[in-house]
Parts: sequence; C-alpha cells; structure tokens
Amino acid sequence: MKALFSRSLLTLAMLALGAVSVTNLQAEEQVLNLYSARHYQTDEALYEGFTKHTGIKIKRIEGKEDELLERIRNEGAYSPADVLLTVDAARLSAAHELGLFAPVTSALLEKRIPANLRTSDWFSFSTRARVIIYAKGVVKADDVQTYDDLANPRLQGKICSRSGSHPYNLSLMASIIAHQGEARAEQWAKGVVANFARTPKGGDTDQIRAVAAGECAVAVANTYYLARLMRSDKPEDRQAIDKIGIVWPDQQSYGAHINVSGGGVLKHAPHKDAALKFLEYLASDQAQRYFADGNNEWPVVAGIKIDNPALTALGKFKADQLPVASLAMYRAKAQIIFDQVGYR
Ligand code: FE
Repeated sequence: MKALFSRSLLTLAMLALGAVSVTNLQAEEQVLNLYSARHYQTDEALYEGFTKHTGIKIKRIEGKEDELLERIRNEGAYSPADVLLTVDAARLSAAHELGLFAPVTSALLEKRIPANLRTSDWFSFSTRARVIIYAKGVVKADDVQTYDDLANPRLQGKICSRSGSHPYNLSLMASIIAHQGEARAEQWAKGVVANFARTPKGGDTDQIRAVAAGECAVAVANTYYLARLMRSDKPEDRQAIDKIGIVWPDQQSYGAHINVSGGGVLKHAPHKDAALKFLEYLASDQAQRYFADGNNEWPVVAGIKIDNPALTALGKFKADQLPVASLAMYRAKAQIIFDQVGYR
C-alpha cells in the first residue's frame, strides 16, 4: 500500500515536472532569434511593433552581410537563427543555394508581395534602384539614358565604378544577361571597362563624391545612398548632390534595375512559427513603412504611404519587373564575364 502510494506520488511529481517543462517550452517559443545585416535606428520601432503585436521577443544578432551567412553556415543544425534579414538578391540567393532557408508557404505573403519579388523560400521587403549619375555641365543627360549608354565609346575615360565583384554590380549584370543574353552582356561589360576613368575602388557613395569632385563624370549608385546625401546635415553632402544629375535608366524599355532587401526562415530555425509570423509582420502596412524608411527604400507592398522627402524628391520611375530569382540565376555567370573582361 505504501509502495503504491509512493509510486502515485512519483507519477504525480513526474506529471508536474512534465507540466513545468511544457510551460518552459512555451516560454521559449515566445522568442525569435533574428540575424540581421540591417542596423538602422528605425528598426528599433520595427521590432517593438512586432513584440507588441505578438508577445514574441526579438533577440538580435547583427553582423556584416557575408559574415552572417558564414556564421549560419558554420552553426549548421545547431544554429539558433530563426530568420535572416539581409540586402541584395545575390546574397539572398547565395543563402538559398547554400540550403540555409526553409521553404515557406504563406497566403498572406503571396498576396502582399508581388510575385517577381519573392521566391519559394525568401521574400523581398523593400526595393532600391541602381541609377545612373552624371556630372552636370560635363555630360549631357541625353547621353546616359540607358545602362547600354555606359558602354558607348563617347564616355571614354569618364566612368567610375565600385568593384565588379560587389553584389550590387553582379545583380545589375545579371539583369543585363537576363534581358539581352550572355554575348551582348559581355560586349557591354567590355565597353564599360574601356570607359573607366580609374580602377574600380570604394563604395557607391565614393563614386557619387568622385563624380561631384570631377574625378570622373558618370557612375551608377543605389538610390538610398543618394537619399542619404540629400537628407544629410553636412553642407558638403548636399553640395555634392547639387553637382550631379540623376537618371532613371531604361525608362523606354524594361525599366531601372532594382535590387531588394529581404529575408527568410532558416532551415534549422528553433522557432519556425514565430519566424513565419515575423515575415508576415514585415509585410504589414506599419512595418513596411519602418522597413523602407529606415534605409530610404521603397516598400514592396502596393499602396503604402511613405513620408520620406528624399524619396519624394527622387520621384516616380519605371522599375524593371524581372523576377529576383533571375538575378540569382545569372549571378555566377555575371562574375565569370566580369572576370573575363577585367571588371575587377
Ligand atoms: Fe548598400
């Protein structure tokens, strides 16, 4: 009798322990581990909004784009990462090719995000355009209306560029391959290299400053770098902007090349439900505003009202509708061609 009693006590104790660990599990599930290559002030409000909405806390690991990718890869099946947020279709597709993402099915994401801006496992949440800039008074706007114009011999010795190996240039090249085929894309790259004013170096902002300073006369840059200078407190930044003209390329044909920032749920995510909720939250009206404004980008969801004087000043344009998956498809080819023609 005594033994039986003890056994029931033991069972009760085990049940109680079980209850405790279930509760612990639920408590654990109210957390999301976010690996992010974004570090903008407005992102704080973005994450608070999610926690307020869902009760799920966000633990953030920030790092440089390529380091984060490497880290997730090294952590393998033991990675605590639930979601990876990063910039550039080429990087997102690299994460896909490494098998880091889990496939996601979400009616909400499919409804809110245009088909060309999502894949089976990663989604774009904002867009940026790669535009042509030129030195006013040195080059005529009419001479730089298309990416093709950058290869025209009349621009000999006038072009500044960042490295051809940088994802932004690889994605642009991938779009040219997708639209015009490899042979024409290679001709184009050769023509651009022949027009260089100097060996590629620096980032997009360095190219903008070089054009403004007269070191070269034409470059390409992502729109948010221009917006940053336009909104800068430093007079020299705004003076640089005054010296340059900005062209939306290829408005009579396929439209300006756009790239994205985006993310996906990771294959070994310990909190997959929370991760999906987070992606869906990023597509909400409120989050779209924060997400895009944080880096002077455009929301992917249609009809979102933004309050960003620099983006308003840049105005409306025709964006290339090429699927982001195509940028991924031709990324490796883009690198091979750039290597062949010496676009380093
Ligand atoms: Fe950038």
